[in-house]
Amino acid sequence: MASITLKNLVKKYGDGFPAVNDISIDIEDGEFIILVGPSGCGKSTLLRMIVGLEDITSGDLYINEERVNSKAPRDRNLAMVFQNYALYPHLTVFENIAFPLRLAKGKHSEDQVQKLVTEAAATLELTDHLQRKPANLSGGQRQRVAMGRAIVRQADAFLFDEPLSNLDAKLRGQMRSEISQMQRRLGTTSVYVTHDQTEAMTLGDRVAVLKKGELQQIASPRELYEQP
Ligand code: ADP
Ligand code: ADP
Repeated sequence: MASITLKNLVKKYGDGFPAVNDISIDIEDGEFIILVGPSGCGKSTLLRMIVGLEDITSGDLYINEERVNSKAPRDRNLAMVFQNYALYPHLTVFENIAFPLRLAKGKHSEDQVQKLVTEAAATLELTDHLQRKPANLSGGQRQRVAMGRAIVRQADAFLFDEPLSNLDAKLRGQMRSEISQMQRRLGTTSVYVTHDQTEAMTLGDRVAVLKKGELQQIASPRELYEQP
């Protein structure tokens, strides 16, 4: 579990206009924060700065009150869930979920891997599909495998980059409630990028609205979307 503090974060690509311009947000332990805003407003860049995939031009990033600006992504203990799943087609569901554990060499015994993957699969209702390959799964099931990977890592926080944008409307609705249930069960701090107002309203404790790299507003979904 983690608090994440963004303090005056700036990202400049080359010498152009900043993609992220002086953004400060205190994300509390267990909070679900949504990032919304038009295409190009800096949502992905901000997410990538938190994960460590993008250098910070200026400002400070803290995870659990420790400054992590120059920490490598693998040392930040955050799990990213992408929209394109990034599953390995030749591996079974079980091995896809187990992958991050196997990658962290020597950290987990085979018994622990079995236990963590089995538990994550149960949480995501994938128990009956563990021996299948991704090609034989529905879009929603693939998305759940991608989330299973984030869960087994027991990460301090989940970062979602438009995880549902490739799904049709029906599946999106289903996955939305699954993510919401997962959040209630696990209570993991989450930062979630979306274009979808329904996702923002149903999942978010707070919604941060970005425009041209700046934080325009941050408020509860109710304050934001149900203003008179
Ligand atoms: P989205 O808006 O769906 O997040 P984008 O099309 O903005 O996706 O970006 C896709 C990828 O291209 C990202 O990895 C982003 O960092 C990169 N990218 C976006 N704009 C530029 C640019 N002007 N020059 C180089 N790379 C870019
Ligand atoms: P969003 O996720 O909200 O669509 P991005 O974070 O992808 O926005 O992009 C914010 C701005 O930064 C855009 O103007 C985009 O073109 C630019 N940008 C993103 N990635 C790169 C990159 N790798 N190189 C140069 N410019 C980039």
